Amino acid sequence: MSDVRVRFAPSPTGFFHIGSARTALFNWLYARHTGGTFVLRIEDTDRARNTDEALRVLLEGMRWLGLDWDEGPDVGGDFGPYFQSQRQAIHDAYLKKLDDAGRTYEKDGAIWFKLEGERYTAYDKFLEAEVEKVKTKPVVIDDAVRGRVERAEERDFVIVRKDGSPAFHFVNVVDDIAMQITHVIRGEDHLSNTSKHVELFNAFGVEPPKFAHIPLILKEQGPGKMSKRDKGALIEEYESRGFLAAAVRNYISLLGWNPKDEREKLDIGEIIELFDFPGINRGNSRFDERKLSALNAEYLRELNIESFTFLARPLLNEAGVIGEAVDEDYLQSVLTLCQPKARSLDTLPELCGYFFLDDYPMDEKTGTKIAKKADPKALLGEVLPSLKNVEPFTADNLKAALEAHAEAQGQKVFAYFPALRYATSGQGGGPDLLPMLEVMGRERVLARIQKFVD
Ligand code: GLU
Repeated sequence: MSDVRVRFAPSPTGFFHIGSARTALFNWLYARHTGGTFVLRIEDTDRARNTDEALRVLLEGMRWLGLDWDEGPDVGGDFGPYFQSQRQAIHDAYLKKLDDAGRTYEKDGAIWFKLEGERYTAYDKFLEAEVEKVKTKPVVIDDAVRGRVERAEERDFVIVRKDGSPAFHFVNVVDDIAMQITHVIRGEDHLSNTSKHVELFNAFGVEPPKFAHIPLILKEQGPGKMSKRDKGALIEEYESRGFLAAAVRNYISLLGWNPKDEREKLDIGEIIELFDFPGINRGNSRFDERKLSALNAEYLRELNIESFTFLARPLLNEAGVIGEAVDEDYLQSVLTLCQPKARSLDTLPELCGYFFLDDYPMDEKTGTKIAKKADPKALLGEVLPSLKNVEPFTADNLKAALEAHAEAQGQKVFAYFPALRYATSGQGGGPDLLPMLEVMGRERVLARIQKFVD
């Protein structure tokens, strides 16, 4: 066990989006890499937004990604409570420390934090008014990602609002002190708050933690930070679409970090071993759903067929492609063919629905394309008797029969393939044709061709 104590400090809003998940993951990785402690602290002082449902979404998302916390809700710990809204006694005690040190004052019903330095009045362009400013000694932050950042706070700020609720900067710092947090890893949007935070740490006479501000995640296209409204932003969506948590986690780890070689697919043990601050990029990263899907497909291909079937079954069931009474052997044979083609599990109903449903849709474009070469009905009517003689109905036997038939007709064997595929699946692409026909089986294939010809 090392002394490292990191925390993920979300304000639950009802969404668990890629950006939050990435912050949680980086903290978790750093804790696991160093053998430290990963704390989950819920910053829920904004009562209106922080509902039980919002908390549930967050905890479920973290659990799905496998980000287990060592201290926090449900698991407890020595530094609780882990809900900020329940820490009022601690906040009050710290407020008293600032009072005693002469670092607070009341104005307009709120309690303000008093900076140290020479005071003067100056015109503020933004506020369009004369305001009191303070000439402070600039705060220097030696950020683990951004390097040296210097900034001078020049105005006192509110730490307890008029309605008695504590302000973010104050409780964020107090809880980091009380929970003995050693490293603050969070989004770059908080870098501008950090000088205020350091002023508070100094006022308490506490050495600030090490800060690591991680770069933004840009949305797929154009400028701007990814927001929860952007397509592909929500973790719960990946869960319901049947993405593999390990693949999503692997992808998120690459948003702002890299192992310094070209590798992208890394198992979690390797990521934990390699993860450290020097590997965090300074530049922003861009969300790329195609890359995430490709990574997911790689993970899917690696599953053994039993696991793949286990994951695919509920999605096929829900889509009405299979029922409870599905033939297990048939299901597994179909999925063996489709597994290498699947980019995510949610594409399976479309990818392999026709194996199970007899009234599969006929793709019009494919139909038109095929008809340009030769009349598919005539072609299939002509080859059907030869197929009826194939016994057993295996890919090899089908190949031999089709070759013999083609030769007798002075045709190339491939001339029959597009029409065969189209008639039996309604599609222009899919798994290799002959293994596909073998899996579908004699009865199904012959009936489908017959129906198509008729
Ligand atoms: N509750 C803050 C947030 O969600 C925490 C910021 C921090 O990590 O210090 O942005």
